[in-house]
Amino acid sequence: MICEILFRCPHCGEGAALNSLPFCKRCVGNLLVAPPLCPKCFSPNCLGVDAKCERPWAADGLSPITSLSAAYLLQGKTFSVLKSWKKNRAWLSDRRIFRFSEHVWRALTEFQPEYVSCVPQRFSRAWQMGGGPTEALSRFLARRLGIPFVQLLSPGVRTSFRQGELQGTARIQNPITFEGQLTIPPHARLLWVDDFITTGHTLRRSAQCLREIGFLGPIHGMALGMRMRHRAEEAPSSNNP
Ligand SMILES: [Zn+2]
Ligand SMILES: [Zn+2]
Repeated sequence: MICEILFRCPHCGEGAALNSLPFCKRCVGNLLVAPPLCPKCFSPNCLGVDAKCERPWAADGLSPITSLSAAYLLQGKTFSVLKSWKKNRAWLSDRRIFRFSEHVWRALTEFQPEYVSCVPQRFSRAWQMGGGPTEALSRFLARRLGIPFVQLLSPGVRTSFRQGELQGTARIQNPITFEGQLTIPPHARLLWVDDFITTGHTLRRSAQCLREIGFLGPIHGMALGMRMRHRAEEAPSSNNP
């Protein structure tokens, strides 16, 4: 097939298939689509038969985020496919990765956001397509939803390590700083985007910074990928991110 000659999967190098471009069929098949998240605790594995929240203690773990959506689960091969997308983005791979399931679009439109903004990326470079993966996702969502994209926060002075360099509790204790200025109405409905949620610390801390600069409206978090926590990691504590 001509596409297989023209395109090699950016993740594994296999020939790309027409219906999975630019990735190969197997890599696209390995992408784990996230189910709808529990509206109370934001967990992808909470909804039981009677849709009752199993971990209500986690309800304020991401405060002030008021609701949350995720496109993929960061498990197994999904994580490595998304990581290679982040490293080596192109128009075609953006289009494939941003093909979200119906329930994600439903959650986003039901929230009725008026603005899209995102967690600023400390290490995104000007030459990256559309200002880095998180901003590219935000701009894509803004276009699809027909609302403006605004950059509300910028990375503050670096105090210690990148979140990606740290593990577990060190991540939670790592002080993250942002600076910003409120350029939207304080009570607007805001879609707040991040690429990957692992502990939830960056998402929560950045949303708290929105409150600190005077933003008072509801915040719907949207993550491209969300790490699924093992049951054993979940303790009944409101500090659980
Ligand atoms: Zn592949
Ligand atoms: Zn729940």
